[in-house]
Amino acid sequence: MKKCSRFKHCGFIKKYENTGLYNDLIEIYCKGKKKKECKRRKFNKEKGYSPNDNMLPNGKTGKLK
Ligand code: SF4
Repeated sequence: MKKCSRFKHCGFIKKYENTGLYNDLIEIYCKGKKKKECKRRKFNKEKGYSPNDNMLPNGKTGKLK
């Protein structure tokens, strides 16, 4: 499946892709069919700027500081 259009620029991906902590979320959201439900995308669309890098695609807060 096609990756999310924001993948290359997404702060969550930059922060977490190589940690292995959220591979499941990355598969389901960023590379999968839930990308349209991503809370980061929604935030960006509504506010016009990116959320904190620590916000996960499901809207929860990531483990790293
Ligand atoms: S976290 Fe959301 S905005 Fe970022 S790449 Fe994944 S689906 Fe796209």
